[in-house]
Amino acid sequence: MNNFDYKALPWNIVFGVDALQRLPEELGKLQFCRVLVLTTYGQRHRGKIITKLLGSKSVGLFDRAVMHVPIETVREAMETVESLRADCTVSLGGGSTTGLGKALALKLGIPNIAIPTTYAGSEMTNIWGITENGHKVTGRDDIVVPTLTLYDPKLTLDLPARVAGPSGLNAMAQAVVNLTSGALNPIVSNMALAAVHTLTHSLPVVVAEPDNIEARADALLGASLAGGSLGTGVTSLHHRLCHTFGGSFNTPHAETHTVLLPHCVAYNAAKTTGGIARLAQAMDVSEPARGLQQLARTLGAPTSLREIGIVERDLDKAADIATQTPVNNPESVSRDRVRKLLDNAFFGREPVAV
Ligand code: NAD
Repeated sequence: MNNFDYKALPWNIVFGVDALQRLPEELGKLQFCRVLVLTTYGQRHRGKIITKLLGSKSVGLFDRAVMHVPIETVREAMETVESLRADCTVSLGGGSTTGLGKALALKLGIPNIAIPTTYAGSEMTNIWGITENGHKVTGRDDIVVPTLTLYDPKLTLDLPARVAGPSGLNAMAQAVVNLTSGALNPIVSNMALAAVHTLTHSLPVVVAEPDNIEARADALLGASLAGGSLGTGVTSLHHRLCHTFGGSFNTPHAETHTVLLPHCVAYNAAKTTGGIARLAQAMDVSEPARGLQQLARTLGAPTSLREIGIVERDLDKAADIATQTPVNNPESVSRDRVRKLLDNAFFGREPVAV
């Protein structure tokens, strides 16, 4: 028997082709009538489509969401919310835009509706992040869970392979960590397993056949399940390392997850044999760490730290930063072993236990 505690998050999801068209009706049900739309500058054309769809219920478009949610952007968006007297935000985009909606929910208590267009999975977690003075602070608070998430696979049809591959593997990391991080909660791990299976089979099709709407829908569902497992599960050494590289060396978020994941799985393999066996089955491979690295190659995604802007002399500093404070992880973490892991990841070597 496996004793466990489980606390769900207040998810509310509409999923389907053309789900975007249901936004006015869903807003009506929620009784919101002064909507501020959030996008990145690159996705503002879509933001304009939404403001048009909402008509008089839209009070404006804030199109300056950027990666890692800088506090300056949050302050600017807060002023916009207040001056326009918005009663909710609709964030359309990837993790950066969802992250801005979450930050506004945290600071102002304003409800957020997420319309994800990448596979970041952030909309399913209660994790927020804000960057101030070059340092990204993160935390968990259920207030940042979107009041509604609307998934429309059509909105991902133009996601280019170079973004889709790493983004899908960012989602994969959320699920894999929750299968290979020691004590397993059966609800979280079953969600994670379904995510791994769905992502493993859909991502190669997304990259090979960008117009395949079934594969796009499966990848979006896989990302949602993966985010759900992270939202109700744990993080471990893998997230610590990704946070270190993103925060201190400004590496791209999804690509950092892509490169490090196989090495972190190999690092923990001996202590998580049950999880590894289930991961192998879900991925249909004999050795999951290698399977994850091979999947990255198939997707044309990076497999080494040197491909994403790291130079060899950064590795010592990264190992120091990552091991400065204790980290939740099934295998014991030491500076020496982390340094070895990083060496393998730097050169894109086959992932092995160190
Ligand atoms: P992103 O949101 O920055 O998007 C990457 C780029 O793709 C952007 O330029 C965006 O405009 C563009 N884009 C988005 N959708 C597109 C589409 N359909 N077609 C074409 N271009 C499109 O990157 P991301 O990887 O989605 O998110 C990364 C951010 O999310 C990081 O800041 C990370 O910390 C955060 N994140 C948070 C959580 C969480 O639980 N809090 C989880 C995962 C990621």
